[in-house]
Amino acid sequence: MNAPFAPPPSFRAEALAGALARASTPVRRILDSALEGREIGRADGVTLFETEGADLEAVLRAADAVRRDRVGDRVTFVTVRNINFTNVCYMACQFCNFGVRKDAAGAELLSLDEVANRAEEAWNRGGTEVCIQGGLHPDIPGDHYRKLLEAVKTRVPQIYVHAFSPFEIWYGVRKSRMALRDFLADLKDAGLGSMPGTAAEILDTEIRLQLTRNKLSADEWETIIRAAHGVGLRSTATIMYGHIDGPAHWAAHIDRIRAIQKDTGGFTEFVPLGFIHERTRLYRDHDKARPGPTASENLKMHAVARLMLAGWIDNIQVSWVKLGPEMAQTMLDCGANDLGGTLMNESISRAAGAGHGQEITSAEMVRIIRAAGRVPVQRNTLYGTVEDFSDHDPAEIAPLVGRAAGVDPLAFLQRRAAQAAV
Ligand code: SF4
Repeated sequence: MNAPFAPPPSFRAEALAGALARASTPVRRILDSALEGREIGRADGVTLFETEGADLEAVLRAADAVRRDRVGDRVTFVTVRNINFTNVCYMACQFCNFGVRKDAAGAELLSLDEVANRAEEAWNRGGTEVCIQGGLHPDIPGDHYRKLLEAVKTRVPQIYVHAFSPFEIWYGVRKSRMALRDFLADLKDAGLGSMPGTAAEILDTEIRLQLTRNKLSADEWETIIRAAHGVGLRSTATIMYGHIDGPAHWAAHIDRIRAIQKDTGGFTEFVPLGFIHERTRLYRDHDKARPGPTASENLKMHAVARLMLAGWIDNIQVSWVKLGPEMAQTMLDCGANDLGGTLMNESISRAAGAGHGQEITSAEMVRIIRAAGRVPVQRNTLYGTVEDFSDHDPAEIAPLVGRAAGVDPLAFLQRRAAQAAV
């Protein structure tokens, strides 16, 4: 086990003071206010999203300081298996390359038994959670969602089930003709622990209409999330950015998430998800679509989210699947405090062209976190501590899906160590 390198507090304080001194007056004023614990409004959020150069550096240092104040130096991860039970979907969202028609080559609908098998395999490899999501398959009945939960919970009662986006809930409600609250309460009764707050994309009507004609509206997304929180199902909150959107949409989205949180307290974390453009119709056909966020936009999204959500949602997750492990590690210095899940199998981002592998094992998570000078902690879905790895390492296990020869997602750590030694 290598000793972590952690910059001393005085180094960080000097870096923050220096960055603030170099920032422009309007940006410094907003950041000083945030550092004093005051809330950043939507208009100031837009200003922070538009920063560059010295102003951007000040935003990143302020976000890192607020992160340290709110959650300290622990960086968490969860051992989870993603189970995408079907890739069949009739919605045809422009940004998605995961969903296929049911007669397409490669279309699949996993049997309940197979879903249970995968959950059991995850449990046997040390997984504490399965994250179950799928497309909107035209042939599944409304009670399919309950049956998935029953199949998993009958086979592995101890595993935590985090499942079903608000769009899937909307679909299940429509198919089952149950009231929303009853449908959610029934799933909770069948073993649902919490929900991914995906399908949020950007909570802006005009942008959503361009992303997909039929997609759940921003208001419907909020109604379902509030109802879920109301029956005691907590959820994550997400944003998908870097396509046809911009700073005004991002600040409004985070402001709306914060307003929901003030009412319900049901969000566990905020997860920025950069748009993966390869192989998507949105990028191919929309003349204003961008090829995903820039590096600077990724930095700003994690940092401004930290600053705007401080005190309301204090877990800011970075997605290594979207950004890659190296960039994900960089985000830990810019406001993020959680590396998300080990995943074991990941299908959705890979289908859209992300190339960052299907799994980072617990031992690898710990190495990434420790190399960033932080304290690695395995958490459960709701951010309770499973194991603190400050003084020991997890057992080494091979990835569930073998990697191609020569593929090492942690190769960047050696490169950085070699550069630091020069
Ligand atoms: S994003 Fe979800 S709802 Fe839209 S096409 Fe893909 S799988 Fe279907």
